Amino acid sequence: MTHFLGYRCSVCGAQYAPDEVTYTCPADGGNLDVVLDYAALKRRGMADLIIADDRSLWRYLPLLPVRDPGGEQTPLRRAGGTPMYAPPLLSRNLGLAHLWIKDESPNPTASFKDRASAVVVARAREIGAEVVVTASTGNAGAALAGMAAAVGHQAVIFAPRTAPPAKIAQLRVFGAQVLLVDGNYDAAFDLSIEAANAFGWYCRNTGYNPFTAEGKKTAAFEIWEQLRGRLSPARRLSVFVSVGDGNIISGLHKGFKDLHALGLLDEIGGMPRIFGVQSENSAAIANAFAAGTEEIEPVHATTLADSISVDLPRDGLRAVRAATQTGGAYLTVSDEAILQAIPALGRVGIFAEPAGATAYAGLAVAVQQGLVVPEEPVVVINTGSGLKDVKSAMRAAGEAPIIEPTLAAVRRIMAV
Ligand SMILES: *Cc1c(COP(=O)(O)O)cnc(C)c1O
Ligand SMILES: [Zn+2]
Repeated sequence: MTHFLGYRCSVCGAQYAPDEVTYTCPADGGNLDVVLDYAALKRRGMADLIIADDRSLWRYLPLLPVRDPGGEQTPLRRAGGTPMYAPPLLSRNLGLAHLWIKDESPNPTASFKDRASAVVVARAREIGAEVVVTASTGNAGAALAGMAAAVGHQAVIFAPRTAPPAKIAQLRVFGAQVLLVDGNYDAAFDLSIEAANAFGWYCRNTGYNPFTAEGKKTAAFEIWEQLRGRLSPARRLSVFVSVGDGNIISGLHKGFKDLHALGLLDEIGGMPRIFGVQSENSAAIANAFAAGTEEIEPVHATTLADSISVDLPRDGLRAVRAATQTGGAYLTVSDEAILQAIPALGRVGIFAEPAGATAYAGLAVAVQQGLVVPEEPVVVINTGSGLKDVKSAMRAAGEAPIIEPTLAAVRRIMAV
C-alpha cells in the first residue's frame, strides 16, 4: 500500500487523483507535485517510514508514490544510498567549519539521475508499461537505460546528435535503442513525447514526468539522515547543487518539504537554504531569480558542462521557488571556474564531471560574497562522475609528462 493521494499543479494549484493524469497539468502544462497522505504517514511512526536494513533509496519506499518494484539484487535496488564526505582540506581551503560533499558518482550509472530513473521504472512496472522512453543529453538517458536493463524493460532514448560520445556509449552498452536527433535537446524532447503518445511508451522526460522529482527527493532524505542530530537551529544548513532543467533542485526541495510535513525537519535545524548554481553560459533560471520573477526567459546555452547546458529549463518555476522559499539563492560561475573545481575536488578523492563540480565552484563564490559564513554547515552535491566526460577532465588536469625510462629523468621531473 502507498500513501499516494494524487497531484497538485505547481502553476494553478489544481489537484488530480493518481489515475486522472499521467504527466503535466491538463489545464496549463504545469509540472505536478506528488501529494502524499502525510497524516497517515505520521500515524505510522518513524520506525515504519524507513526500511532500516536497505541501504539504497528504497529504504524510503513508504515515502514514495510507488509500490515495491521487485528486482532484488539488480542495479535498480542500488540507486541512492550515496556517501557524505567531510574533507578537511576543502573546509580549510574555503574557511568553513562544517563542509560535507554528498557524492552521487557511486550510483549504478554514475550520476544523480539514477534516483529519478529508478522510481520512474518502478512506476512503469506498476502501470504495466513495457517500454520506457526519454529525451536526454546523456545522464538521464543512461540512468533510464541502466535501470530499465536491470529489470528487463526496453528503453528508447532520444538524444541530440551532439551528445558526448562517452554518454552515448553507455546508452548503447545498456542495450537501449538510441535515436540521435538531428536537432537540439528541445527537438528531441518534443519528439520523445510524440513517440510516447503514439506508441504507448512511458515517458521519463525531466520537467514532464512527476515521478522524477519523487526519486530525486530521496537525496534530501539521505542528507537529513546523515546529518540528523548534528545541526542546531542557530545555524541552518545550506545545500549547494548545480542546475540545468531545475528538476534536481526541485526534487531536493520536495524532499525537505515532505520532511517538514512529517515534523522531522527540526532534527537538522529547520528547512535548509537551497542554493542553485548555473554556468554563466547557461543561466536561464539564475537570470529569473536575479530579476525577481518566476517567468523563465530561454537563453542560448553554450557551457562546456553539458549536463546543465539548457536553453529552456523544463522545471524552472519550481527551481526558482526552491531558492526563494528557503532563503537560498542562485549563483553563476564561469566555465573556467567549473574546470578549476574538478581538480579541487579531485584532491580529496572525488572525481566530478563538469556539471558535478559546478556546485563546488558556486560555493566558493557564495563564500566570497558572504552568502554563507564560516560557522554555517554546508552540503555540496557532486551530481555526476568525472568518467562521464574524460575530455573535460583532461582539460582541467593537464597533460602528464613523457619521460625517458631512466632514474635521472624521474629525478628531473620530481625534483628529488
Ligand atoms: C542532470 C544533471 C544536473 C542538473 O539537473 P537538472 O534537473 O537538469 O537541473 C546536474 N548535474 C548532472 C551531473 C546532471 O546529470
Ligand atoms: Zn495547472
